[in-house]
Amino acid sequence: MWYSAQSCGEDEEELLRTWNSLRYHVQNIHEWKDKKGVTRRCKHATLSEEHVEWTDWIQSESELRELDKVVSNFFKCYLAAKLH
Ligand SMILES: [Zn+2]
Repeated sequence: MWYSAQSCGEDEEELLRTWNSLRYHVQNIHEWKDKKGVTRRCKHATLSEEHVEWTDWIQSESELRELDKVVSNFFKCYLAAKLH
């Protein structure tokens, strides 16, 4: 997350986009369509079968909700920090 906050500078839209891609990634989804129907994919190379097999992907809605909570707190802190 700090990576996405730092790598995009001041561009919050880019930050959200990067976060969104991570959100897909952690669910083992590496290609998806965004709200405008544009196909987006992770920036990493194709993952090896081993990597896919051994990674602890998020598989339940409740895990994803937990993650969303953490991230929205992070964004609140980030935006609050920016205002000072
Ligand atoms: Zn990915």
